[in-house]
Amino acid sequence: MVLIAIALLLTSVNANPLIVDDHNLWQRSGKFEGDMVLAPWQKNGVIDTTLRWPHRNIPYEISDVFGMSLYLNNDGDATGCWAQVGRLGGRQELNLQTNGCVWNHTIVHEFLHAAGFYHQQSSVDRDEYVTIFWENILEGMAYNFDKYNADFITSFNESYDYASIMHYGMYAFTSNNKPTILPKYDASIPIGVTSVMSEIDIRKLNKMYECI
Ligand SMILES: [Zn+2]
Repeated sequence: MVLIAIALLLTSVNANPLIVDDHNLWQRSGKFEGDMVLAPWQKNGVIDTTLRWPHRNIPYEISDVFGMSLYLNNDGDATGCWAQVGRLGGRQELNLQTNGCVWNHTIVHEFLHAAGFYHQQSSVDRDEYVTIFWENILEGMAYNFDKYNADFITSFNESYDYASIMHYGMYAFTSNNKPTILPKYDASIPIGVTSVMSEIDIRKLNKMYECI
């Protein structure tokens, strides 16, 4: 079971904001369920335990923007779907633009950022599994395809997961309607199209929070 409990409000001091901009998420190429190819040592969960939420509890409050509808300590009016990665030690933002971000997969995706996960393709060794087409990425958006070092994020000994809800879709941040990221050895493997957490997503979350 995933044991992320819910409570209300946060206090204390903010620090070190880490923003992940996900305004591409509704630009999906299609709706087919992800396949999975297993290979070792992909990493996308923060190692620093101070970035994790104590007692498996992510406190949140719902912005008035959403009225009775939906989630979080967010603004909803600002542009895009984005979150800060991990617990920063105070009130932090998780934004779901009301027109475009209020979908189950987007909400889960952003909550996993808040829990402490970067994108699946952020690993320093991701180039073994996907090809980035830099020439097709919107100007100024290349940072969304940054990699992170193995001393900062971990795979929890799980495999690279094309089916992860934290994986970009093939047209993420495209400037020309051509793919920006594709699986390396079989470009037909679906990425970034799942609407639910993969089995590996669930295992990694449970490992991060020591539920298994
Ligand atoms: Zn994201």
